[in-house]
Amino acid sequence: MYNGGTKIMIKRILITVGIIVAVMLVLLVYTFMPAKIDVGSDRESTFAPSNRLAADRLPETALAMIEAGKMPARQAFAYRGGSWRGPYENGMAAILVRHPQATFLIDTGFGANVDEHWKTTPGLMRALASYVKETPAAVQLRQHGITQDQIKFVIITHSHWDHISGLEDFPGVEVRMPTAELNFIRERKMPGLIDRMIDHLNVRTFDFSGGPYENFERSLDLFNDGSVVLVPLPGHTYGSTGVFVNLHSGKRFLFTGDLTWAIEGFQLPAERPWLARRMVDNDEAEVRRSIVKVHQLMQRYPDLRVVPAHDRRVHDQITALPNFER
Ligand SMILES: [Zn+2]
Repeated sequence: MYNGGTKIMIKRILITVGIIVAVMLVLLVYTFMPAKIDVGSDRESTFAPSNRLAADRLPETALAMIEAGKMPARQAFAYRGGSWRGPYENGMAAILVRHPQATFLIDTGFGANVDEHWKTTPGLMRALASYVKETPAAVQLRQHGITQDQIKFVIITHSHWDHISGLEDFPGVEVRMPTAELNFIRERKMPGLIDRMIDHLNVRTFDFSGGPYENFERSLDLFNDGSVVLVPLPGHTYGSTGVFVNLHSGKRFLFTGDLTWAIEGFQLPAERPWLARRMVDNDEAEVRRSIVKVHQLMQRYPDLRVVPAHDRRVHDQITALPNFER
């Protein structure tokens, strides 16, 4: 039995809790509202005097998309201001690059063991998301006559599960990542599939020891011929890497990993909503700085094809295996 005073007390507590919950909901909704990253506040981004070779002096390099899985989602989760309506798909892809000196992959997409790998992801992600299997990259390559020993190495844009799942389908393949990314793994900043894999991988680390390139202070020209240039895009992880592929035809691509999930993230520019940032980004401020760099690149080079690792609309514009962009 309650007396009148207790009843009033309970009522006040309930009202207070109700107000707190309502305020938190409003704040959560706010984090999905449109908001552009302040580009003007970034003063670091200056472009190096062009050290790019004329396209016709570049080697004959070719590349092809290999879509290897997808995750249905809402665009609203991909960037601030994205739509809640309509279907939206995150593509899980590998990119095959054929350079005269080596054929290699950028990321792997979902591999044959993706069902096992999914279980290593955080519970909150499994509660909020789902995945759809497609033909793994290794199988697609075999179907088109490309054997495993022809893949000389895999450059990973970063060490998250959805980019490395397919590595198990290429046993012993050399996996290239910056030293910073190996530190990120060793420090267990984002435990998951990589921790199970790392001791079995044939890792070869690199550093961005090659001087300025475009608006990056450091870079690594993979073959010293201007065709494939790696640049640091830190924030999502320590060693997140961007990969420029410059073709003989003059076509240029920049693969940006998970710096943003949707192309609008660079165009606006806009970051992921708070909930997504909390789940996946190591350093939000650094992510914003890296996004601004890519935004400025797109403004300077309207023909540069910037490819977020999961924007399937962008992937669909790129020639898929067995055909190649040249
Ligand atoms: Zn990813």
